[in-house]
Amino acid sequence: MNQESIMGMVLSSTSVGEYDKRLVILTKEHGKIAVFAKGARRPNCALLACSQPFAFGTFQVYQGKSSYTVVAADITNYFETLRTDLEAIYYGMYFCEFTDYLTRENVDGTEFLKLLYQSLRALSKKTIPYTLIRYIFEFKCMTINGEAPQVFECVKCGKGEPGILFSAKAGGLVCESCKGQIKDTIEIDEATVYTLQFIIASNIEKLFTFHVSESVMENLRVCAARYLSLYVGHTFHSISFMENLY
Ligand SMILES: [Zn+2]
Repeated sequence: MNQESIMGMVLSSTSVGEYDKRLVILTKEHGKIAVFAKGARRPNCALLACSQPFAFGTFQVYQGKSSYTVVAADITNYFETLRTDLEAIYYGMYFCEFTDYLTRENVDGTEFLKLLYQSLRALSKKTIPYTLIRYIFEFKCMTINGEAPQVFECVKCGKGEPGILFSAKAGGLVCESCKGQIKDTIEIDEATVYTLQFIIASNIEKLFTFHVSESVMENLRVCAARYLSLYVGHTFHSISFMENLY
């Protein structure tokens, strides 16, 4: 059996049988994979620490007939600061669940992994509000997935000055002359247009560096909610649980 070294982050961890765990790991090398951690629930097992969500590092695995098995891990970041803050944990779990939903085995997961890592780092640092981290994460996920809203030109006619009308159904900004053809437009701030353009066009490393006004935050909330309900259309347990808490 060939052992190999993979880099990734644990998205979820479930108990299997009496002593084992089944992990879902988003890896650079193989996209999202299922990995068994045998004996991970035995006391003092070295695999216990790596068998929890957010654990990021290098995993030694071998590939069996139908799944991978982890034999050792070198975790470089557990994101333990998140674990002391319930709200941060829920956002972190939501980011993992969302990533899990959008990624596949044998599809390059590098960009998603980078985004997830930076989003968890932003939650740990607490320099910008969690809700803003969430909207940035959501729009960047859609971008990586090739489903970003068109915010650089009118999505209907391609005019370079897209205006300030957002339509989830049309898939982006709609100009004044096209707005009559579209029913679900909402007016957003110009600053929201720039914010969306920045999120979609910027490198992941630069994403979590800015603040926005209350009004832009509200625009982002509404645009993300409408957009995701149309193009992702999935209820994530972690976020619905959290939204009921607050
Ligand atoms: Zn137009």
